[in-house]
Amino acid sequence: MSVRVIRARTLLAAGEPPRHDAAVVINDDVIGWVGDWSDLAGSVSSVTEVDGVVSPGFVDAHSHLRGIPLDEHGLPARQFEAWICSLAAASDLDPHDEALVAGVGLLETGVTAVQGFVDASADEQTALDRARAAARGLASTGIRSLLVLGFADRALRAPEPALDDWELVSALPPLLPASSVARVAREWLDQNAPARTEYGIGPVGGQWSSDALLEALASCAGNHRVHTHLHESRHHRDWLAGAQSPLERLRSTGLLNDRLSGAHGVHLRADELDLIAASGASLVHCPASNEALHVGRAGVAEWLSRGIPAGIGIDSQNVGAPDMFEVMRATLATAHHVDDPISAEQAFMMATTGGSHALGIAGGGRIAAGSPADLIALDLEASTVDDLVANGSADCVRSVWVAGAPVVVDGRSTVDASAARTRLTGQLASDRVAREERLAKLADTLDLVEQLAEARR
Ligand SMILES: [Zn+2]
Repeated sequence: MSVRVIRARTLLAAGEPPRHDAAVVINDDVIGWVGDWSDLAGSVSSVTEVDGVVSPGFVDAHSHLRGIPLDEHGLPARQFEAWICSLAAASDLDPHDEALVAGVGLLETGVTAVQGFVDASADEQTALDRARAAARGLASTGIRSLLVLGFADRALRAPEPALDDWELVSALPPLLPASSVARVAREWLDQNAPARTEYGIGPVGGQWSSDALLEALASCAGNHRVHTHLHESRHHRDWLAGAQSPLERLRSTGLLNDRLSGAHGVHLRADELDLIAASGASLVHCPASNEALHVGRAGVAEWLSRGIPAGIGIDSQNVGAPDMFEVMRATLATAHHVDDPISAEQAFMMATTGGSHALGIAGGGRIAAGSPADLIALDLEASTVDDLVANGSADCVRSVWVAGAPVVVDGRSTVDASAARTRLTGQLASDRVAREERLAKLADTLDLVEQLAEARR
């Protein structure tokens, strides 16, 4: 058995009082013992000294694993319906390299586990090949992950068909048909996963899924986790006029249960939150992305007061360099803006134990015997969780351990992502002229979509 001892000036974990001059003993990949350093001193020879804070690593519970921000594709954040149409113009980058660069960026901000969402492309083999490449790239960084293959068969990047603008849909890329979904989902779930990687599936969003697709996913899910976008934009509830809401359709096809997590959840009514609470499903708050895409503000305090397990997603779609500390502060700001504040302790809980619950990581987000040894060391003067949330930043992350293994040392990932980053920027540059042409062709459509969506507010 490999044993590692970390001595910290302060240990901070959600729901536990701060411990000062404390020690954590890691046995292989789990925490074996936690207590006062004075109880251990003299009995151990090799110790990692942390003159700052040790806390559980963060969980980014919703990510698209973008290694290159969409800004650099010339696709800045804008009103949601127009923005999602604009993704059709994005450059096609290597999924292995994107996931590798994204994983390194997350680890260096103290994220030890991520729920990554990879869209299935239109062809069965390509969908699997691309998702497997992302899995390999992500796993090579040492991060823990739940990698979700996402399916859609109804005009994913289209404006609302409720507006009868289906003609615009012809410009959109083809999608994997529902008849292929069960085959691809089973193959994805049944394969061997790299170390620290779990596989999940999910509809990209209920509004973008036929009943046949939702039923196919429900038939394959078994005990695997399911993840989806849930009522992100105000238009998603009645995206197809007269149809059930996405939440109702998840429920009626059997997908609303304690293995489901839904991202965003901005537009959920009180009765819908009651339904989610009763199901045991988790919600994932993405405050930075919600602001950037003008979708509105989620009432997170209402989630927590109902006992809904809740995590936080950095949501790589619309943020530059990830910083979980900023996203925790955005979580507090959002709650403040909707006049239903939450505490820093609750935001920290969402970023650690809540996110672990959403990803199905048993005992995750805690510093306790038997919990996974996913820990971070911060160069930060903080004696309470309030201090950590108020004053922390990605820059103060010095060391990161995932399953007991050091994956960030002196603030830098042990995996060199520079070659992958260079390949990605090369791909982006070589596609620049073609991408600008695609975007120019879409420009009028995007403006029209934005006007139509704004008119329906
Ligand atoms: Zn998303």
